[in-house]
Amino acid sequence: QGPLELPQLSSAGKTAAALKSSNGHVEGSATSDWSPSSWTTKPIKQDVIYDDREALEKSLRKLERLPPLVTSTEIVKLRKALRDAALGKAFLLQGGDCAELFDYCEDDAITSKIKLLLQMSLVLIWGANKPVVRIARMAGQFAKPRSSPTEDYNGRQIPSFRGDNINGYDPEERTPDPSRLVSAYFHSAATLNYMRAQISSGIADLHNPLDWNLGHVQDPSIKAKYSRIIASITESLRFMHTVGADTAGQLETVDLFTSHEGLLLEYEQTLTRRLRNPAGKNALNQGTFAHPTTSASGSNPSTTSITATTTTTEDETHGWYNTSTHFLWIGDRTRQLDGAHVEYFRGLENPIGIKVGPSMEADELVRLLDIVDPKKETGKVTLITRYGEGKVEGLLGKHIEAVRQSGHVVVWQCDPMHGNTRSTPTGIKTRHFSSILSEVSSALRIHQQHGSVLGGVHLELTGDAVTECVGGSEGLTDDDLSLNYTTYCDPRLNEKQALELAFLVAGFFRG
Ligand code: PEP
Ligand code: MN
Repeated sequence: QGPLELPQLSSAGKTAAALKSSNGHVEGSATSDWSPSSWTTKPIKQDVIYDDREALEKSLRKLERLPPLVTSTEIVKLRKALRDAALGKAFLLQGGDCAELFDYCEDDAITSKIKLLLQMSLVLIWGANKPVVRIARMAGQFAKPRSSPTEDYNGRQIPSFRGDNINGYDPEERTPDPSRLVSAYFHSAATLNYMRAQISSGIADLHNPLDWNLGHVQDPSIKAKYSRIIASITESLRFMHTVGADTAGQLETVDLFTSHEGLLLEYEQTLTRRLRNPAGKNALNQGTFAHPTTSASGSNPSTTSITATTTTTEDETHGWYNTSTHFLWIGDRTRQLDGAHVEYFRGLENPIGIKVGPSMEADELVRLLDIVDPKKETGKVTLITRYGEGKVEGLLGKHIEAVRQSGHVVVWQCDPMHGNTRSTPTGIKTRHFSSILSEVSSALRIHQQHGSVLGGVHLELTGDAVTECVGGSEGLTDDDLSLNYTTYCDPRLNEKQALELAFLVAGFFRG
């Protein structure tokens, strides 16, 4: 028997009202009635029904025993960085595939994504004149919410592909397979291991020249503009090196955090661990890090907590951490106030994201924040807004005002991808570069108009030369989509389009 209570699953899955416990939580209440499995008492969307119950239990028990993939120290480090983003002192760049496949766990796919995120972050630092917090949408971004449980395959309906940790893309592998849960852990571990290894081996060493490769940019004036930005970044790095401004070795490495949608709660539960809070955790809950009651050395949180003279309780020294990733978000389809996902998320110490689409009412958004952020901790929640270029104007301002009045201080992040998906006349899902750019530009302006700050962007991208989104400097059109369309879910920006977006967003900041 492991340390965690496993989900209690009825044979009909977890939607059965009969499973609802009598101690349903009260909005905004303390988390005493929460446990890693309390979500099983709530109605759930996007549920996965496993036929082989025994195999499921076996996988979950295995996962429960496996070590954390990330530590509470790293998670709290990200919480601090996102606190800065919420206060306008840092900018958050989050990006990666829509659906990560187990097959993407290989050298080139991992390396090219890290390099791309690094280059984009340098451009954004130059533009926003702020540190950039980097979160990769990888090492666990497997599960996908689907609008329909079935999809067409050569004229017949088969179960939809729901992500590599649930079923296979191959039409013969569409039955949910519990062994994929364990496989997901090991693919996450291998990906994360290689990310860590690459970063500690100098992939992000800014003393080395980066290959910016602007050959694709057709317009000579745009090309000259990007070249000037790169020259300016390179010159700044060289200058810092020359004057010895890099004594702490800050140019040699960077922080790169991971994230995924917290969709498959059986999996997330097994990696949710009760851990001692690292030093500095208590300060997060207070108005400022320089809070006078926090010990200056801050070495041991159990003895240096807020009231050092009184005894601390286990609740003050420990917390529940999702150790499968640093940052977890709730999708737009699973954010129901009384649903299983919101219940699970409200108990976590991790920084969390919430996708906010056009159907979100302003008062609903505030009630959701009251549930997941009852202590109103600055930057605990990132609101990932994804309205679409035509809807952002009518919705974002209202949401900004409602959140401001509620007293929650969030990171406002623009996801310009998900509200801008369209189908070509031949039925291929794509997104236009100009729509993506337009939503970011509107979000930036609307935040400024409301005295708020756009704290970051959330993008679907890949380091490969795919042809999934149209537009950009390469001038991709609908006709080009078939050249290299390889996504298993939503269309991603390719390396060139992603870098170009970073240049243009940096330009917006510079005015
Ligand atoms: C996604 O980020 O891939 C996704 C499914 O987004 P949303 O929940 O915003 O639809
Ligand atoms: Mn997507």
